[in-house]
Amino acid sequence: MNAVIPIQLDGGCSDAPVLRERGQREVFCGLTGIIWLHRKIQDAFFLVVGSRTCAHLIQSAAGVMIFAEPRFATAIIDERDLAGIADANEELDRVVRRLLERRPDIKMLFLVGSCPSEVIKLDLSRAAVRLSQEYVNDVRILNYSGSGIETTFTQGEDACLASLVPQLPAADKSATKSLMIVGCLPDVVEDQFARHLKAMGIEDLQFFPPRSSKALPTIGENTRYLLAQPFLTDTARALELRGARYVPAPFPFGVEGTTEWLRAAANLFNVENEVFEKVTLPSRERANRALDRHREKLHGKSIFFFPDSQLEIPLARFLARELGMKLTEVGTPYLHREHMKYELAMLPAGTSLSEGQDVEKQLDRCRTIQPDIVVCGLGLANPLEAEGINTKWAIELVFSPIHGYEQSADLAELFARTFVRKAKLGLDQRGQLVQNPASSSLESTTTSSSEAACN
Ligand code: SF4
Repeated sequence: MNAVIPIQLDGGCSDAPVLRERGQREVFCGLTGIIWLHRKIQDAFFLVVGSRTCAHLIQSAAGVMIFAEPRFATAIIDERDLAGIADANEELDRVVRRLLERRPDIKMLFLVGSCPSEVIKLDLSRAAVRLSQEYVNDVRILNYSGSGIETTFTQGEDACLASLVPQLPAADKSATKSLMIVGCLPDVVEDQFARHLKAMGIEDLQFFPPRSSKALPTIGENTRYLLAQPFLTDTARALELRGARYVPAPFPFGVEGTTEWLRAAANLFNVENEVFEKVTLPSRERANRALDRHREKLHGKSIFFFPDSQLEIPLARFLARELGMKLTEVGTPYLHREHMKYELAMLPAGTSLSEGQDVEKQLDRCRTIQPDIVVCGLGLANPLEAEGINTKWAIELVFSPIHGYEQSADLAELFARTFVRKAKLGLDQRGQLVQNPASSSLESTTTSSSEAACN
């Protein structure tokens, strides 16, 4: 007997109204994705074609690597008129040639567009084709946009992967059904998923993006793809154009999400329920035990999500169903109904959903609700903290390993930490002193300081 997904697809928030806002927004741009993409594809280089602002963003988000050769840089294009564009193209070619001469280890080069008008005037796709002809057989040269006008911060990964899909080698037509896991995952998480899927007998398994540009997965009519990240709309479209087919599933956050995600793969390959249970049960039980210590801290606490990473709906589902948190508003930059089908069905009925942003109006709603914790971008976190509202930086949730069974408790802890820190400092939820902090032990205070630094 096959495993069956026990989720009512017409339940929860499947048909819930969504507040759509198209006003001013406060989000990072898609350049941010370079931080995790360059760690994943280990022989790729990301050359941002941008301004000094772009260079500052990348450098401060990634930190400066002193001992290692960095795998990202910014070619700064100064202000120039249309007549100067030919020079700018020559300059770009010169920068790329110098880079590739100095760094023969680079096997894949992404030219990443940004939003200054002088960069928009440059045709980076033509530059990529032009330079590819020069480096044919040596380096793949691709381009995508990380511009803040076109992308929010996780969409940078989507644009990057979508640009890579046409490069994937075609699978043999006679090949049997294969599974592709799509979305950047830390290596440790990827290994855990591979172990579970292989233990169920799913051997024909590929990850995209790969760890090396020389190990691109093959693709064809027999490829089925399972999304590991909820922000890959363009990548999914590009994969479909190459013949791959989507496997609907919730996202692998928390014990329930991970189980149903693995179950979707198991169903596809006709894995016996008994085998599925045998492979997943020990991890499920272990992860549930690890979650217990966070449940009491988070149960009943209210949470408000500003739109930022597109992880909001799956994370809200995890926090509500597995930890008992109360969802006030769940905002997302974009709502892809097909990819979110299971997630919406699993959200508690009556949850307020919003798509896009009109930041001042949303701040007003948040202030009226006074939630116990808010998930938002860095730009909103400090003002809200100053008003006594606890915040969690959305970017931290993207940078941390949070997928899968082993990481479920770490994910819960990212939220619980705020409340634990306040309790240790003798503060109430609004940051008001309720007991003399001097009565707290030195050990508690020391721990709290380092936790505070990580928020
Ligand atoms: Fe560069 Fe535009 Fe991002 Fe600013 S928003 S860092 S100018 S790409």
